[in-house]
Parts: sequence; C-alpha cells; structure tokens
Amino acid sequence: MTREEVIEYLKENSATAVDLSKEFAKSSAGIEEDLNHIRTSLRNDPEHQLLIRPAECLLCGYVFSTDKPKAPSKCPQCQEQKIRLPSFKIEKR
Ligand SMILES: [Zn+2]
Repeated sequence: MTREEVIEYLKENSATAVDLSKEFAKSSAGIEEDLNHIRTSLRNDPEHQLLIRPAECLLCGYVFSTDKPKAPSKCPQCQEQKIRLPSFKIEKR
C-alpha cells in the first residue's frame, strides 16, 4: 500500500486510524506516520485538504486537540476512557 492509496481512500471515505489500519493491513503506528505525512503534504495542495474530526470524550464532551492523529486513552476532564477516535477525510478546498 502506498500513501497515494490512502489519499484516494480518504477522498471517498472518512476513517479513523483504526479503520485505516484494518483497511490497509498496516500497524496503527505506520498509519499515524502516513497521516502525519499526508497532512503535511496536503498543506501545500491548492485543491485538497485533510479534515480532522477531533477525538471527543463520549461522556463529558471534551474535545481533544487535533494536533495528533493518535487518540488519547483517557479524558483529562472526567478521567474516563470512553473516547471517540479522531477521524480523517480529504476534501476539496
Ligand atoms: Zn470526559
């Protein structure tokens, strides 16, 4: 699998790192590296951008920073572990 395939996939689907890791049979660490790379390379793309729906606590609604694709395991606000993973989608600007 190449990063181009991940890019094409994300143009059609929104997916979490876990979804992508299943889809492309790759470790989540590898997928996170790809996502970071894709985000950087799309920064200069005039047509497309990587949209990140941030991780969110399902209990108290705390929204995590979008800086990292990796979801935190625990909510800093309520200390619970019911976190919805961040999801990614590539859309036209
Ligand atoms: Zn919380």
